[in-house]
Amino acid sequence: MPVTGFLIRHVQWPLMERWKKNRTRQYIRELRQGQSLPTEALQASQREKLRTLLEHAVHNVPAYAPYAQEWQESHDNPEAFLLRLPILSKSRFRQNAEQYIAQNGDRSTFIPNRTGGSTGEPVSFYLERPAVEQYEAARWLGLSWHGIQIGDPCVMIWGSPLELSQHQQKRYRWKERWLKNRLIIPAYDLDERRLDTYLRLIRRFSPVYLYGYTSALYTLASMMLEKGLTLDVPLKAVVSTAESLHEHQRAVIARAFAAPVINEYGARDGGIIAYQCPSGRMHAFSENCYLEVVDPISGIPLRAGETGLLLVTDLHNTVMPRLRYQLGDLIALSAQTCDCGIGYPLIEHIDGREDDMFVSEHGTFVHGHYFNHIIRNMSSFRTFQIVQHERQRVSLKLVKEPKVYLPAEEAQLLEGIRAALGNVDVQVSYVEQIAPSASGKFRYAIREFPLTTDLLRE
Ligand SMILES: [Zn+2]
Repeated sequence: MPVTGFLIRHVQWPLMERWKKNRTRQYIRELRQGQSLPTEALQASQREKLRTLLEHAVHNVPAYAPYAQEWQESHDNPEAFLLRLPILSKSRFRQNAEQYIAQNGDRSTFIPNRTGGSTGEPVSFYLERPAVEQYEAARWLGLSWHGIQIGDPCVMIWGSPLELSQHQQKRYRWKERWLKNRLIIPAYDLDERRLDTYLRLIRRFSPVYLYGYTSALYTLASMMLEKGLTLDVPLKAVVSTAESLHEHQRAVIARAFAAPVINEYGARDGGIIAYQCPSGRMHAFSENCYLEVVDPISGIPLRAGETGLLLVTDLHNTVMPRLRYQLGDLIALSAQTCDCGIGYPLIEHIDGREDDMFVSEHGTFVHGHYFNHIIRNMSSFRTFQIVQHERQRVSLKLVKEPKVYLPAEEAQLLEGIRAALGNVDVQVSYVEQIAPSASGKFRYAIREFPLTTDLLRE
């Protein structure tokens, strides 16, 4: 649809900018200028933004007011000052949410938002329009690294049905189609008949790229490979978002759609944090967020290359600042630079969610990937989900592959689980399918108890 794309880029966006005072394109330009600056200049720019945010927070946000005096003596080193603040866990934030609202903000302009709550309770919070536009800008900049521009036709492969009424759905779809050039396809409940229909729809829409939940893309891709079906649409990329992207998933998605897979790293309550560049590395948008990595138990800052809890300080949310917000992911930062020419700092790896991490009976950590690795090499199971309720109690749901199921493989799997977790009680059940969570995300491995209490992090 080249006409629609052209109109969106050259008519609709400029109009929207005037109408709604939308600054997304301006922010994209700023980010683009920043991306080729030397590391020191980028750090200085980030430090300035952090200083402004801290100044605002201690004077206007009740939760940070007790630090006002200390801040007076720390202006020169906002990064060091930040370390004196407690880590903000989701539960701590939820319990005191009102305390994080800026008193000088105009509540009529606040945009309410909430996380889907794939585990635990959802987190509700407020944003302001410029912050949302900054996230959008970061996404467009990341996409532009791969030759994708505003208005390019996109098919979104989504994990859950939209929670809208029929009338709203119609309106939403119209908006998506004609204002954003996007077609949405739910891939949460695929069967053969739907697969054909969806592929036909995608071919007819002829997108430049696909964008979707990792598990939804993976589901679609696996079915296509199984049936020997191809899309036959030349795609610039398939963008995977909202969930960890495992290497085996990346391989299946890339093969099925005959296109490179790009990882977008963001969260509803963290914004667009990082994007994969053409060299395959993840660049963090240091103009939008300040990232820290700390030890999961002690909360002590870790060095580049060491994996720990990610803390995000969103530099643009001033209506409800969350400083050192524990997003729930385990990552490692990198001190290296990238050969692609983009100066934004690198994330060495994203290990997935903190609650994907299991704890053995001896107190060692076992990542959810571990179970994935075992099962992937077995033909007996289509998929699985493992939940650690308590250290000693695990439940395992298995979707069998009926024709090739081997009891010996199941025994081997249980052996693998016990080798990692110790002599734990494993409750096995067989199910037809494993539904995604309410948010539409699919998770293989879930730990239900906290690693440590919030008290330890005061
Ligand atoms: Zn790069």
